[in-house]
Amino acid sequence: MLIDLLSDTVTRPTEGMLRAMMAAEVGDDVFGEDPTVNALEAKCAEMFGHEAALFCPSGTMTNQIALRVHTRPLDEVICDEMSHIYQYEVGGYAVNSGLAIHLIRTPNGILSAEQVEAAIRPRYDWLPRSALVVVENTCNRGGGSVYSLQALRQIRAVCQRHGLALHIDGARIFNALAARGGTPQEVGALADSLSVCLSKGLGAPVGSVLIGSRSFIAEARRVRKVMGGGMRQAGYLAAAGIYALDHHIERLPEDHLHAQQLAQALAEMPWVERLYPPETNIVIFDLKPPLSAMAFLEKLLQQGVRAAPFGPHTVRMVTHLDVSGEMIQRAISALRHLAF
Ligand SMILES: *Cc1c(COP(=O)(O)O)cnc(C)c1O
Repeated sequence: MLIDLLSDTVTRPTEGMLRAMMAAEVGDDVFGEDPTVNALEAKCAEMFGHEAALFCPSGTMTNQIALRVHTRPLDEVICDEMSHIYQYEVGGYAVNSGLAIHLIRTPNGILSAEQVEAAIRPRYDWLPRSALVVVENTCNRGGGSVYSLQALRQIRAVCQRHGLALHIDGARIFNALAARGGTPQEVGALADSLSVCLSKGLGAPVGSVLIGSRSFIAEARRVRKVMGGGMRQAGYLAAAGIYALDHHIERLPEDHLHAQQLAQALAEMPWVERLYPPETNIVIFDLKPPLSAMAFLEKLLQQGVRAAPFGPHTVRMVTHLDVSGEMIQRAISALRHLAF
């Protein structure tokens, strides 16, 4: 059987999750009448210490809605160059919200408060207006890197001093909390809004949740509708999300251990040039040129292991719910069998 390290989005619902979905009570969520969606939203808001939440089809949509609600056209968003909102959302910040973007370059996707402050523009008619900071925790392209609560507090203070909003792209926020400690409330208190993916490490088939104040979420509901994200009996999907929050957070350290095991094995391979030490469930490494990611991945697939290209000579492996400890050991022996 294929050992699929392509992404933590490839997981299939477990038996228990499917049972929860089949048993869900549903209604029309566009009218606010789906009790399971309402329960998921209330649960997420409470978890992160905010007033309200909104269930959406994807993390791209929750991020795009946040950009739209926090800003006006001609504003600028400050983020790391590696950010999902810049790299992987098709330039939506420009199309959906008419924004400029101010990119900060870091080694691992983790911004410092000093860098954020230096990126804030003075107020002149000919400059975009700095309006929003987005931090990604964990940062995917940074190798699943994690912000400390202290670093987030300092960024928060800069935002408050300059009147900027702070959005946390927490697609993998529970991985961050599992790795560095801290509670959802502690991290929630530092952000004006958070986006949390249910379909990544938590193992739900579909969905992300946007979390914020009551007035922010009221406006977000309208933006979700204009983006075509108003779903009807979405409770079947929300039930999977509730199940994931109840059952799949505690096991995340297992994924992190598996990533460590992969990294330890990779560090010994003669064809690895550089390894980004994993803090969570993502392992990124550079191959020694001229070995290309594509050639490497093809050989790896022949050994029954799939991973993702992340650059001409760079590969990403992600551990998740559907990869057992035994599969990791098999993946490691497959890696040891590769010769280039
Ligand atoms: C996956 C991901 C998202 C959202 O992706 P969707 O595929 O649209 O659900 C957002 N931010 C980060 C950091 C991600 O990894």
